[in-house]
Amino acid sequence: MTELERLRHSCAHVMAAAIAKLWPDAQFAAGPAVENGFYYDVELSHRITPEDFPKIEAEMKALTKANAPFERVIVSRAEAQKLAETGRLGANTERNVPSKFKLNLLNDIPEGEEISCYRSGEFLDLCAGPHVMRTGNIRAFKLTTVASAYYKGDERNPQLQRIYGTAFPNKTGLDAYFTMLEEAKKRDHRKLGAEMGLYVMDTEYVGPGLPLWLPKGAAIIEELEKLAKETEFAAGYVRVKTPHLAKEKMYLTSGHLPYYADAMFPPMELKEDAGGNEVVERYYMKAMNCPHHHRIFAAEQRSYRDLPLRLAEYGCQYRYEKSGELFGLMRVRSLNMNDAHIYCAPEQFATEFNAVNEMYLKYFKIFGLEKYVMRFSTSSPEGLGKKYVNEPELWKQTEDMVREVLKANKINFVEVPNEAAFYGPKIDVQVWSAIGREFTIATNQVDFAVPKRFGLTYRDKDNTDKTPLCIHRAPLGTHERFIGFLIEHYAGNFPLWLAPQQVSVLTIGEDAAVVEFARGIVNELRAAMVRVDADYGSDKINGKVQRAEQAKVHTMLVVGPRDVQAGAVSVRVHGKGNQGVKPRAEVIANILQAIRERWTESTQSSSSKSA
Ligand SMILES: [Zn+2]
Ligand SMILES: [Zn+2]
Repeated sequence: MTELERLRHSCAHVMAAAIAKLWPDAQFAAGPAVENGFYYDVELSHRITPEDFPKIEAEMKALTKANAPFERVIVSRAEAQKLAETGRLGANTERNVPSKFKLNLLNDIPEGEEISCYRSGEFLDLCAGPHVMRTGNIRAFKLTTVASAYYKGDERNPQLQRIYGTAFPNKTGLDAYFTMLEEAKKRDHRKLGAEMGLYVMDTEYVGPGLPLWLPKGAAIIEELEKLAKETEFAAGYVRVKTPHLAKEKMYLTSGHLPYYADAMFPPMELKEDAGGNEVVERYYMKAMNCPHHHRIFAAEQRSYRDLPLRLAEYGCQYRYEKSGELFGLMRVRSLNMNDAHIYCAPEQFATEFNAVNEMYLKYFKIFGLEKYVMRFSTSSPEGLGKKYVNEPELWKQTEDMVREVLKANKINFVEVPNEAAFYGPKIDVQVWSAIGREFTIATNQVDFAVPKRFGLTYRDKDNTDKTPLCIHRAPLGTHERFIGFLIEHYAGNFPLWLAPQQVSVLTIGEDAAVVEFARGIVNELRAAMVRVDADYGSDKINGKVQRAEQAKVHTMLVVGPRDVQAGAVSVRVHGKGNQGVKPRAEVIANILQAIRERWTESTQSSSSKSA
């Protein structure tokens, strides 16, 4: 947990304490910190609405003012059981009904693991922590929304009320956040995605969480893939292609089955004739691309000379997200990932890992992302052999290597202990959009365990077989999440190279010479792969411009009779207005250069000013 997450999660306890005070029959489930805030799930006969927020916030104020310490209480399983049975967990007092969800959560804690409760004032909760020192450390908070959610996200479980809130270290941060939210509403990717015709969700025929990308959305996808392919090619990656499904054996080997089965689509059973015997083969849609890439590594004899081997693929994977968890493009069931796996020898790790970081920084620049943080999740000594694969030396080695590379290259990072993946340390990349909202766009992982499970080896210089390290990386995340993010970041006003519709050529009147001149421009741009359309109709030019502006066309080229004679066009840029009359050849050259060099808007406007 980062410091901010600790603050927010602590605030969730305070909110629960306040709710329990107002409605003592409240049954709390889980209350984690999440992106931009926190929530707590509660079962309660009273339906909480935003009208209740001031009342709850007033109770919370009183609790933070009391400045009670967050006390960690270690209990035995029997003691915890008793506290839950007497209704004492997630409550201010004992009650005559058990704390049923806490009782259930207690059963999920593995045998032998330490069980802790946290007390703040009267409120006692089952929780692993950590928290801030005292309730008084929580200075600026606000409740935001209430939604419904199934317990543990499972539709077969009771439906709970999910109360969201947020907290910041100070009032200024809190106020800025709400100003930002107002702006974010206007930039909502679901709203703009529909208005701009980027994608649709056809839940009737295709299914929830499976977006259909319309031509304009697909245009953005093509550009992102082109960027990734060029960048990866220059960085020495090779591209592979793999099918969307694989046999059960693949996922039993990778360890996805049985542990990850809930997040996968259920298997398909095929009756296949193997040498006269009818056998049932189970196939799964892939939830990750890694296992397929591991089998590609295994497909040939590898030597140290082949390493590092960087296998890249825009791989499509399928995850079974609960329907209640689906959200626009941000939480979907089909994900096109900017994936690659770098197989390397331990002595190559630092160089490879650093090259990955540099690729991130290059992308941040292209997309005009000024604020980012790499969240470096490491293991914990107590978790080895339970939560984490039991390889103490490899953990230390790789964590040290990652930390050193991050420090040496002055990458902005925070280290979060005890949140690594099972197979190795993990880095989540968090970025802030133009309006200051935080998004997690990608995850990198160092993996020193799964290559071994797949028996991957390379023949080293000393003629022995060794297991490679594997770096999983996906700087552009998935198309779904990344484009959802970009829509908000740009408010739908994409830079020229990314704009679904880059140029519109608009004629003043429908004079034959003007139309011919305009058509010449369209043809030249189209031959250069520019996404261009035209309006040669008899409508007034103001109406044509207005329609193009509404469709967020990036550049409008207006031509009239005078322009034909002068061999010139008037340039208009979406949201920036008239840029003046310029020679035709110069305008076209400028457009092609801005696309080729993927200008961000600031570089573009400064250069058009100087022109
Ligand atoms: Zn807690
Ligand atoms: Zn992977």
